[in-house]
Amino acid sequence: MSLSLTVDGARWRTHLLDVAAALPGLVPVAKGNGYGFGLGRLARRAQWLHERAVAGDTGSAGTPLDPGVADTLAVGTYEELGEVASRFDGDLLVLTPWRPFGAALDVLEHERLGRRVIHTLGRLEDVEDLLTRRPDARVVLERSTTMLRHGFSARDLWEASAALRRHPAARLEGVALHLPLAQGDHFSQVNRLLTDVVGADLPGAADGHAGAHRVWVSHLTDSELGRLRHDWPDLTFRPRTGTRLWLGDRDALRVRAHVLDVHPLERGDVYGYRGRTAPRSGHLLVVSGGTAHGIGLEAPTGSLDLRGRAGTLARGGLDALGLVRSPFSIDGTQRLFAEPPHMQASMLFVPTGSRVPAVGDTVDVRVRFTTTSFDEVVIEG
Ligand SMILES: *Cc1c(COP(=O)(O)O)cnc(C)c1O
Repeated sequence: MSLSLTVDGARWRTHLLDVAAALPGLVPVAKGNGYGFGLGRLARRAQWLHERAVAGDTGSAGTPLDPGVADTLAVGTYEELGEVASRFDGDLLVLTPWRPFGAALDVLEHERLGRRVIHTLGRLEDVEDLLTRRPDARVVLERSTTMLRHGFSARDLWEASAALRRHPAARLEGVALHLPLAQGDHFSQVNRLLTDVVGADLPGAADGHAGAHRVWVSHLTDSELGRLRHDWPDLTFRPRTGTRLWLGDRDALRVRAHVLDVHPLERGDVYGYRGRTAPRSGHLLVVSGGTAHGIGLEAPTGSLDLRGRAGTLARGGLDALGLVRSPFSIDGTQRLFAEPPHMQASMLFVPTGSRVPAVGDTVDVRVRFTTTSFDEVVIEG
């Protein structure tokens, strides 16, 4: 009685190895709902990926994995560290910048975990504050991008670098750039930002200290990364990747919901929380999956302008009768919600003439993985 994610294990693992082969220095990202899989599962999988890389495995085209793949796992928040720390052995990069409150402070008290965590810094006051509290902290300095979410300006990056010199026990692990998703002209922006990175005179840069030459990036294409590696041979790029890694092969993933109940409906029959009347005869299907799982309303099927609407009415489209498209589909046809989704179940309308599944059957569901809570995740094979 569940909304379940079934994973074709062999296919998924092949995809993970292929992404790792394409992205030397890959840093898997496990945050939020764990991209639908759960944080713990992704942490174990990242550990596996790192072990495969160290063992010299290749992607399916024969490209060997760089041994640095997945030596670090990125999490979104300090609160997420607990779920991954016992399942992944390597370093843990926290993407949300450190602030002097909440779980970001608690982790400083942990002797062992504290040594594995890499903090992201984005404000000058936080550099002083963190290093006063934990002088040996490992830190990444974030340079702000056109995202304008977090990070230092070019000038403040230089100041942060100067502040780090006043704390010789601090361990600089690199500079972070979080780029927008939009494809296109990342390249010129990254080039400008890298000029700032080099101009910031990072501690250790002149002595070849690895952290002063490491740049953590996101959302660059393989060719952009290739060009950057070519143009900036002194820098090491670490691509932080979540969606493309975990969700990049949709054919390895299948989401299904159980049919929980089936009721025949005559035109005019009353049903649902809102006492709607059936627009025509058919069946009411109650399936698992509702708002608590993140199942939401989809955009109406028909055109919203008057002419389109008149056309839909003339064709007798059900959406014109006030029903809304659902993410559930039966035999490849997307079905309409009989009414908006409930907390854990949804009611679908199946018009007469279509095959009616039985209780216990499953139907396919199209979801946004990063906002869906599955009742179960099954890795097959
Ligand atoms: C979420 C996130 C990523 C990974 O994003 P995807 O689109 O899932 O690959 C990388 N960097 C930062 C800072 C993030 O917050």
